[in-house]
Amino acid sequence: MRIPKAAPGDGPKKIRGHFPHWKIAGGEKHTAYIAGPALWVIGHPSDKGTKPCTDWMTESALPCRLCAMHKVPCELGYVPVYRASDWRPLCVIVYDDERQWIDGFETHQRVQIGREREKGARLFVRPCIEQEPRFTSTIDYRRFPQEVDDSCLVMWKMPELVQWLRCRTVSDNELSLSLDAAPAPAAVVPDPIAERMSAAPAVDAGLSRALKRAKAAEKNGDGH
Ligand SMILES: [Zn+2]
Repeated sequence: MRIPKAAPGDGPKKIRGHFPHWKIAGGEKHTAYIAGPALWVIGHPSDKGTKPCTDWMTESALPCRLCAMHKVPCELGYVPVYRASDWRPLCVIVYDDERQWIDGFETHQRVQIGREREKGARLFVRPCIEQEPRFTSTIDYRRFPQEVDDSCLVMWKMPELVQWLRCRTVSDNELSLSLDAAPAPAAVVPDPIAERMSAAPAVDAGLSRALKRAKAAEKNGDGH
């Protein structure tokens, strides 16, 4: 009797992976591969994990509870990586003093992640001098740079912020649609010169709609 065998990539296609928080204790050192660009925000470190500053993120639409408690915000970076030991997708959190390194990394670059033993030592991410073995994967999405936005929203557990971001995305789309739908100036001005000019804005509007559609398709990761 023979059992059907799945080839690499036969499973359900994922557009992206989830990158849960990787806690690194003092004295630990690991090798990993960069999975995509870091997400930098203004936020608050705390014993219960980091939180974004909602005052900063929402232009004060959602007042920040931590700022209200006089906690000082700082620049925080969320870096998606694949741990080298098991290639699990994980996210490490760094401070602005790491940014000079982090922003220079390329996707799939081999790095060392660790923390020194002394109290208050911060997590570091440094390029490995030895880049072998290289990162390879038969999992489709891992071959492309991954974003950590959705993983951060899961990590932060702030439903009110998710709601605000969702509303803003909807209103942004509505705004761009209403701009597209606006009549060309020539259509409302009965002017023969304007009438002759009317062809150009119409072409521009069509082109801008096509560009927007292409951009949206790119954003949705079509072809990844
Ligand atoms: Zn704040």
